[in-house]
Amino acid sequence: MGAPVSTILIIDDTRGTREELARICEEAGYKTVLADSGLEGIRLSRESSPSLVLLDVEMPGLDGYKVAAAIKQQPVFVPVMLLTGRTDLDAKRRGQAAGADDFLSKPVQPLELQIRIAAMLRIKTLTDQLDAANRRLAEIADTDGLTQIANRRRFDQLYAIEHERADRYHRPLSIAIADIDLFKKINDTHGHAIGDLALKAVSAALAETIRRSDYLARIGGEEFGVIAPEVGPAGALTLGERLRKRVEGLVVPTDAGELQVTISVGVVAWDGSAKIDAPALLKLADDGLYQAKQNGRNRVMLSAVRA
Ligand SMILES: [Mg+2]
Repeated sequence: MGAPVSTILIIDDTRGTREELARICEEAGYKTVLADSGLEGIRLSRESSPSLVLLDVEMPGLDGYKVAAAIKQQPVFVPVMLLTGRTDLDAKRRGQAAGADDFLSKPVQPLELQIRIAAMLRIKTLTDQLDAANRRLAEIADTDGLTQIANRRRFDQLYAIEHERADRYHRPLSIAIADIDLFKKINDTHGHAIGDLALKAVSAALAETIRRSDYLARIGGEEFGVIAPEVGPAGALTLGERLRKRVEGLVVPTDAGELQVTISVGVVAWDGSAKIDAPALLKLADDGLYQAKQNGRNRVMLSAVRA
């Protein structure tokens, strides 16, 4: 399987130049897409995802500087090579200010164009790889390694956003904190490997139970947080009970036989109108969890905050 063929977008108002540039690119093995105006070029730069743009400076309507600036606003790095048609440095300086990456004077030497394109595409490949690596790192930074659900860091970010939204627009918001009952005993009795199996099974079960619009995170050793936007006091108890029942019905197969676990859940339901800050709201869910443990575990304690 060879590398995918790069597409080069050629924007030039002169037909002869377009065709000549296309011929040189195709001879080097690239695909080409042609535009005869700046406007058409900007449209095609979005539609055809080119790996590189060859751009004429002097065109009626949108000139090359404006087109370069527009293409450079797109989030993906696309190298732009400006064909200046003249040798003066002023055009190159303006082009660079507009975001162009390289410059060639017309008429172009075919071999030089091919070499410059290859060099630019190398930079494009490296930039794409770096972007992909950064995206992956961002994902890892937000993910709990064991359970592959969101981690505490992500929970805190999402909670801050959802609290702010609920507060500003007076929308309901519920938070559930679930903790596996007697988890230390599981670890002590069966070892950490089986404790880990229980954590994975519980997080998978919780993930299946929540709505698509809710967020689930592992926020502590055996503690999980659920953020449920648009869920008020009426729906919050149902949410907590659904989580509790789902885990109660869970059977975790292990080398030491089938393991059953339960969770205690503290839920706070907020109407979004009463004034309460994010830490205080979260503390009410925590207090509920504590009460659920005190009252015998495997139960849900709800508190409501209303105006
Ligand atoms: Mg022209």
